[in-house]
Amino acid sequence: MSTNGKRVPITVANGDGIGPEIMDATLRIIQGAGARIDIEMIEIGEAVYNRGVSNGIEPSAWDSLRRTKVFLKAPITTPQGGGFKSLNVTVRKTLGMYANVRPCASLHPYVATKHPKMDLVIVRENEEDVYGGIEHRQTHDVVQCLKLISRPGSERIVRYAFEYAKANNRKKVTCFSKDNIMKLTDGLFHKIFDEIALDYPEIENEHWIVDIGSAKLADTPEAFDVLVMPNLYGDVLSDVAAQITGSVGLAGSANIGDHCSMFEAIHGSAPRRAGQNLANPSGLMHGALLMLVHIGQGDIAELVHNAWLRTIEDGIHTYDIYKDGISRERVGTKEFADAVIARVGQKPQHLPAAHYAPHAKLDIDARPQNRTSKKQLVGFDLFIDLPTGNPDAIAERLATLNVPGAKLTIIANRGTKVWPNGDPDTFWSDHWVCRFEADGSEFLPQTTIKLMQAMLEAGYDVVKSEGLYTFDGERQYSFAQGQ
Ligand code: NAD
Repeated sequence: MSTNGKRVPITVANGDGIGPEIMDATLRIIQGAGARIDIEMIEIGEAVYNRGVSNGIEPSAWDSLRRTKVFLKAPITTPQGGGFKSLNVTVRKTLGMYANVRPCASLHPYVATKHPKMDLVIVRENEEDVYGGIEHRQTHDVVQCLKLISRPGSERIVRYAFEYAKANNRKKVTCFSKDNIMKLTDGLFHKIFDEIALDYPEIENEHWIVDIGSAKLADTPEAFDVLVMPNLYGDVLSDVAAQITGSVGLAGSANIGDHCSMFEAIHGSAPRRAGQNLANPSGLMHGALLMLVHIGQGDIAELVHNAWLRTIEDGIHTYDIYKDGISRERVGTKEFADAVIARVGQKPQHLPAAHYAPHAKLDIDARPQNRTSKKQLVGFDLFIDLPTGNPDAIAERLATLNVPGAKLTIIANRGTKVWPNGDPDTFWSDHWVCRFEADGSEFLPQTTIKLMQAMLEAGYDVVKSEGLYTFDGERQYSFAQGQ
């Protein structure tokens, strides 16, 4: 029985493709085990997109989400073509779901995998990084995407990972980043990881550069326990991790926010399998287990998880994991759900039984930010669109601009220094950056306006500008390659 006697209202969406079948199976399983939930249905996905709602969710559905604060969502079919916005990204970002949590464990020898001892959880930052989708085309040849990493966003996700490890008796938290290249953005994420790790001396911590870390994850996943990483790496690697357990059809994920949270399978709507009673409901069911823990019904999650493990052990498998010699019976979505329900109260005989720590939602306080460091403008980067540029000629022309207080220090192209002393082998696109720094005295903000004005008057197409700042005297902008 639930430790929490109260029924909890949740919002449910059936989604598209295999969505309605796996949702029906999931709800039957968790309700069959005694989940104390009251369901509010909303419609999302294809039908809503087709009614002309560009993000696939009706304005009225938000009322339900804001009321229940808990969303169990089946996969949807994302329409092809421009003009449509991702429903997942809209819901996550609108409702501030900053943490994506995805447990991935192998089920050897019952589900074929090369990694019999794998049991890890990926905690992915869910709102920042390049997923702001802030993109611009600035010249004929060059487009850009802004990667934004914030201190509060990173602190929250890293602390969530350590708190998750503590609550679930996990022993180690690993951070992946690429701070050997992105020293400011990934560097901040890594620095915050090191700072927060100090608050958890009982939990081992380590950092891997994401490329070699990913290779290790794909090769020896049993070396990892809880992993925390920025959005893009987490998006890619959580799919890899789920796949190498044996099937993407098995994993669920939680999107956790301070107020609202969303629970789902990691896979999509598999339209080719829809309506045939074929799909494996396990991924969505695992999403529902994360939801039960979140609403304080971890005891029900444990009952369901153990019944499910027993079903898998008994060789009752849907087509995606069915294997001659290992499986005993090939079943459809409905029959699989019936088999799990029939085993509620049983435990696996060989696989480790699931145990859910009696905790509910992890509360991660936003810490007050220290904004006392001294910020100083020390220069200005001006980006220009120049299809047939030559760095020496640009430098010569800029030397005649005569803006007091600023001197041209470098010209770079796609991040590589091309003046002074550029290498003749460096490729030049039409996207140049001209860096101006203080000429002797302080660099005044007004100087940036004068510079831009002078460059426009000199006939340059200025497409973008960036201030160069120090904080407490420390340089907080990158050098160009070769500088
Ligand atoms: P998909 O995950 O839907 O399916 C890929 C393949 O995996 C399927 O053909 C099927 O063979 C298998 N598969 C997936 N789930 C399964 C299950 N539960 N049981 C058995 N087999 C399963 O990926 P896709 O085909 O690239 O995408 C289909 C649609 O889903 C697209 O419109 C995509 O945008 C959308 N999508 C939605 C979500 C979401 O709503 N969270 C996530 C990913 C993709």
